[in-house]
Amino acid sequence: MMIAERLEAITRGLPEGVRLVAVSKFHPVEAIREAYLAGQRVFGESKVQEMDAKHALLPEDIVWHFIGHLQTNKVKYIVPYVRLIHSVDSYKLLLEVERQAAKVPRVVDCLLQLHVAREETKFGFTPDELREMLAKGAWRELKHARVVGLMGMASNTDDTEQIRREFRLLHDLFGEVKARWFATDDAFKELSMGMSHDYPEALAAGSTMIRVGSKIFGERVY
Ligand SMILES: *Cc1c(COP(=O)(O)O)cnc(C)c1O
Repeated sequence: MMIAERLEAITRGLPEGVRLVAVSKFHPVEAIREAYLAGQRVFGESKVQEMDAKHALLPEDIVWHFIGHLQTNKVKYIVPYVRLIHSVDSYKLLLEVERQAAKVPRVVDCLLQLHVAREETKFGFTPDELREMLAKGAWRELKHARVVGLMGMASNTDDTEQIRREFRLLHDLFGEVKARWFATDDAFKELSMGMSHDYPEALAAGSTMIRVGSKIFGERVY
């Protein structure tokens, strides 16, 4: 199957209002161009240098999302153009997005990344760390880093029940956080969850944004 056909197969089945982020990390600009010509506009990258290089070479109307672990000292490179950072995993990082975005100036949308999977290596707030950070309230003062939702990953496992439980937990947390801290904020509406191997479960649990890479572009070459 070609990239265009794979894209069509995925987007055809998406519920109303759910967006597809085409994760193009480790794939060349030619692959992105092929997806672009098929109509895809939102692309996700996980390395700052790689996204910067691709951004410089590709059409202006591509919407770039950053989905990987972001070091504070690299925020300044992507802030002039990135539309959504999925992977804000500390208050310190959110503050740095605020500081750098204020300089541009522009508003950068951010998702707070949660850690619910079993893997030790995944970044993100635990549910309690997230509640604690939001309860402190300092984030309300930020003008250039705008929190628009949550992101999470399920465990990398074949145990579908485990995956479903983790996505349900993320969905419930989203509802709790929305009600407690963002009830009157219409911008807070995104729940980014679901990858190539588990996005149907994520959609069933209320995902608004799926991040799909290998199912569109083929296996990555590391
Ligand atoms: C790589 C990556 C994806 C896409 O993974 P696939 O299995 O290729 O669909 C989604 N989200 C994050 C955070 C990633 O790093």
